[in-house]
Amino acid sequence: STFKDLGLNDHLLQAITDLGFVKPSEVQEKAIPILLNSETDLVALAQTGTGKTAAFGFPMLEKIDIDSRTTQGLILSPTRELCLQITNEIKQYGKYCKGLNVVAIYGGSSITDQAREVKRGAQIIVATPGRMKDMISRRLVDISKIEYAVLDEADEMLNMGFYEDITEILSHTPEDKSTWLFSATMPREVATIAKKFMKSPQEITV
Ligand code: AMP
Repeated sequence: STFKDLGLNDHLLQAITDLGFVKPSEVQEKAIPILLNSETDLVALAQTGTGKTAAFGFPMLEKIDIDSRTTQGLILSPTRELCLQITNEIKQYGKYCKGLNVVAIYGGSSITDQAREVKRGAQIIVATPGRMKDMISRRLVDISKIEYAVLDEADEMLNMGFYEDITEILSHTPEDKSTWLFSATMPREVATIAKKFMKSPQEITV
């Protein structure tokens, strides 16, 4: 299939052409139609390098309201590097989505600068759990209107001891959001988190 077959809009298709992506990867082919056409939760078993950022990024860009400045999408990732990488990718995918503001929140960098960026109005926040929790407790960020939450590399986040932070962060999000969990492996801890935070998720494996 093609990206057009998957139902993506012209702004995204143009960005995809610019990036030189010829056809959807397996995880994209499986995840994108599910996420575009329903409000389901999703558990996706996928390694890095499979194109999973676009598998959740395209549907999120498609579904959020760019005309609103409210934070609607939250992506949690284990490390600063990954956080910045995801932010850059989503910015590229959304380069023709006029008014889109994607903000990265991670430790080891000025919290004041990050808070200022958030205040300008970020439809999408990409964050590491520790700094995110910190910003929530200082009321520098509002995720009470989130519609889509992504737990990226969930196994890594749990390995790094972020279980409590993730729980705390998700407790500040609405009950009726959709949660999309991506993980390379499915140890018991990941299954537990899926069970605790998700409602009958669809499952895909690549
Ligand atoms: P990820 O697994 O999301 O880290 O993606 C790995 C790399 O593949 C990134 O550099 C993406 O820009 C690239 N990529 C993602 N989807 C595609 C695609 N459909 N065709 C070619 N490259 C892609």
